[in-house]
Amino acid sequence: MQPLPHILEPGDSLATWLADQGQPAWRARSIHRWLFGRRASSFADMTDLPADLRGRLEADYRIWTTSIARHHRAEDGTEKLLLELHDGQRIECVLLRDQDRRTVCISSQVGCAMGCVFCASGIDGVVRNLSTGEILEQLLRLARLLPPDERISHIVVMGMGEPLANLDRLLPALAEAQHPDGLGISQRRITVSTVGLPAGIDRLAAENPGYHLAVSLHAADDALRTRLVPVNRAIGLADVMASADRYWESSGRRLTFEYVLLGGVNDSPEQARSLVRLLGGRAALLNVIPYNAVAGLPWREPTPAAREAFLDAVRTGGVNVQVRRRKGARIDAACGQLRRLDAQARTV
Ligand code: SAH
Repeated sequence: MQPLPHILEPGDSLATWLADQGQPAWRARSIHRWLFGRRASSFADMTDLPADLRGRLEADYRIWTTSIARHHRAEDGTEKLLLELHDGQRIECVLLRDQDRRTVCISSQVGCAMGCVFCASGIDGVVRNLSTGEILEQLLRLARLLPPDERISHIVVMGMGEPLANLDRLLPALAEAQHPDGLGISQRRITVSTVGLPAGIDRLAAENPGYHLAVSLHAADDALRTRLVPVNRAIGLADVMASADRYWESSGRRLTFEYVLLGGVNDSPEQARSLVRLLGGRAALLNVIPYNAVAGLPWREPTPAAREAFLDAVRTGGVNVQVRRRKGARIDAACGQLRRLDAQARTV
């Protein structure tokens, strides 16, 4: 038997269904308002819909296609969900609490094809793209971890997967997240983090330049970047930077470049100076990310002295630097780590 369609999946199926039921088209929006704004968890909760309509929705649609396989809470308030999808695949999403910010980090794919050598998500490659409904369901699940007087303030697409490799499904989900009747999150509070795919960046610049773009750099020369971020071999830093510049021209917003510091690999003062040369003159923020150790991988954090020397050298070169604080490390909140641990545990 075919599973019921997902109410969060866009397209005209709900519109057609409502018309078949003799219902006005605006009912679709009130259903979404119930789900996103009012955190209903069933059709029965949608008390201003006619009772028979609620019953027919219940019979013909699903709200939830995922189940919570694990739920971790860290002492700093970070919460992480491992969601099991309808086909048994698992993805992660995270809620971060920082003063009055409530940021959610969501996944765009099951696994990842980019192969960054220090990242847990890509170790087994990409399995599949997430659907728009599955991307949205992460937001619904995370919003329901908050008390009623708190709401999601920011979205970062920095979970598993390469978002620019799944733009067709991601963009409708991010559009829904902005809807004033739903989550109402403005575009500037939504960050899309990419390994740096020029075609994807250009498409985003043409269609949706209002998002905050973060480009994962990790190295300032092609030889090292290709070692750390293998897709760089076919792209090259020059093209990554040129497309980032075009995005900046379209958006007028400062870009972020991410840099995971790996001890003895990309943390020398010399490398900091080549980073200064690369970023110099650009309206850019350098986001230095502490490495989250992944079991079985050989990388380690830099020594505190090496880290400070690196940061000093980039600051001296005039680059705006932000050092991301580690959050939720004890619950393996970094990309793909919980899913991997869980998969390993299930094999023993
Ligand atoms: N594919 C996208 C988005 C997902 S990864 C991208 O590459 O940007 C989000 C960020 O986390 C990227 O900068 C990625 O390089 C970084 N990251 C991956 N594994 C990490 C780890 N073990 N420790 C710290 N940061 C990591």
